Amino acid sequence: MKEERALDFNPIFKSIFEVPRASRYRLNTWLVIGALCASSWLSPVASGEEPLRIVTTLPEFAEMARELSGGEAGLRVEVEALLRGNEDPHFVEALPSFVKRASRADLIVSAGLELENAWLSKVLAKSGHAQVQVGGPGYCELGSAVEVLQKPQGPITRAMGDVHASGNPHFYLSPLHLISAGRRLGDCMARLRPGSAQKIAAQVILFEKRMTSLHQDLLSKLATVVQSLGAGASVRFMEYHQDFTYLFAAYRLHSIGAIEEKPGVPPSAARIAKAAQWATAEGVRVALAATHHPASTMTKFSELSGVPHRRWPVMLQSGDVKLDRIEKLQRFYIEQLIEVLKQSVTQPEVKGR
Ligand SMILES: [Zn+2]
Repeated sequence: MKEERALDFNPIFKSIFEVPRASRYRLNTWLVIGALCASSWLSPVASGEEPLRIVTTLPEFAEMARELSGGEAGLRVEVEALLRGNEDPHFVEALPSFVKRASRADLIVSAGLELENAWLSKVLAKSGHAQVQVGGPGYCELGSAVEVLQKPQGPITRAMGDVHASGNPHFYLSPLHLISAGRRLGDCMARLRPGSAQKIAAQVILFEKRMTSLHQDLLSKLATVVQSLGAGASVRFMEYHQDFTYLFAAYRLHSIGAIEEKPGVPPSAARIAKAAQWATAEGVRVALAATHHPASTMTKFSELSGVPHRRWPVMLQSGDVKLDRIEKLQRFYIEQLIEVLKQSVTQPEVKGR
């Protein structure tokens, strides 16, 4: 088959090289012009400016950076995320490949609020790249631009847990919080490419509109189901770690708290039993955990409480085409929550144990 295809192309090449010298010159000129047109079509902007190299911790932020760049007609960017979405963002190894990517970046984008504390500071230090160090022009922390939930009042102590000492850093599960984060990201990008500031600002507005519309659509879908089930304020959830807190808040759902006693500290057998008792007494419909959290703990919790659990991704999944965009993941959550609610009304609510 290969030979046949190769022979098929031969007459084309033959006709090119058989044309007279003058015609060949004109043909070459057209080929060059064609190649130039093709390259300017493929490249976002034929400005000659180097692409802005953006490295994000979470895949969510990479999608945002691409969107704010304005695509093919916008600012030239090269964007990549360090995480693929199946890790625990608190506890990731500071891989040499992360260091390599940070050393070449113009802009590092993180959630901050201590989400990546255990590993990002090591990556940045090892990169030896002054521009992207905390406080540098190439460092962009989105968490400092959002309204933080579960922010501790008074002095911060480690007794609050090792990983949420500045409040809950998992804001990226709320489309509303991503709007504030998007504004900050736009500012960071414009700081390094002031010539494109207006274009970026226009993209920030489009991103805000997209997130607002997505949120309104899903909120209305969920509210319709909650109303039809007559569930209302009695719908209560629980979570293993406080990954889903912003999702619950965005969709006006009530979580009674976490199975972990302190964020980032695996619960003891006594704590799991206590949390199970609490969940039963409060009539919790379902407990949510991240896919990277221990299945055995959740099984034990469900056995003790009679409350079902689900383990879901808590970041975009780079390797899964069904969950690799903010909109897809948000739709997944709401569709799954609707399923859970429908199932839960068929089971009697247990109270007062
Ligand atoms: Zn956390």
